[in-house]
Amino acid sequence: MLFETFNSSKEARTALEAASDLGIPGWGGFVCDWTGKLLNGETAAQVAAGLKGIEPDVLLFNCAPVPDITLALSELAKHYDQPMGGYAHVGRFDPPDWMFTDEYPPDQYLAAGREWIRLGAQVIGGCCGTTPMHIETLKQGLPKTLPV
Ligand SMILES: [Zn+2]
Repeated sequence: MLFETFNSSKEARTALEAASDLGIPGWGGFVCDWTGKLLNGETAAQVAAGLKGIEPDVLLFNCAPVPDITLALSELAKHYDQPMGGYAHVGRFDPPDWMFTDEYPPDQYLAAGREWIRLGAQVIGGCCGTTPMHIETLKQGLPKTLPV
């Protein structure tokens, strides 16, 4: 079960405990801001500490701009040695619609994916505004296997 777009480790912990109780794998995705912190102010270190004992099978950051995901993963990598990953949004939300932009075309998104892997990410995907071309470019350009 992929739980995504969390804004607190407490909420994620509840969901991950439910997955554990059901005996199914649980992945936890968090939204971060431009400082790499969750929207509730928790740091990556606080998220890692908040999930102590119920670590998700993969801890991810999602639904934030590419540079924010990069910053959050770099902070998390200092405090967390379990599988992690990221999937950013590209474009802008202009209620009620998503505005597609060309700020992260597939080749630039691939470059971000490579940076996330360098930081230790093992799961890379795409969130709001990414297209099938973004995912295809990741598939073609990222290593097929990563060090564990
Ligand atoms: Zn999103």
